[in-house]
Amino acid sequence: MTKYIIVTCDACNGYSIAKSCQKTKTCPYCGSKIILQNARKVASADSAEKATEILKKLKEKAATRDVKSTLKGYFKVSHKQ
Ligand SMILES: [Zn+2]
Repeated sequence: MTKYIIVTCDACNGYSIAKSCQKTKTCPYCGSKIILQNARKVASADSAEKATEILKKLKEKAATRDVKSTLKGYFKVSHKQ
């Protein structure tokens, strides 16, 4: 059975799914080549569906952080206006 792993890109820290049998993967966000052996593995899953689900959750988490910092920046800007 193929295992799926979720790795982060060294260049942009984006999460992406790779099959455990793959050696490299191209980052879908910045196009960097991720060498899976050296990449930081965040999670693993037995199916593509599960991997996608985990990835979605990770992205939601990251998005929450991003939204917070974006809002902070936004409010700073809006106070000046
Ligand atoms: Zn990247």
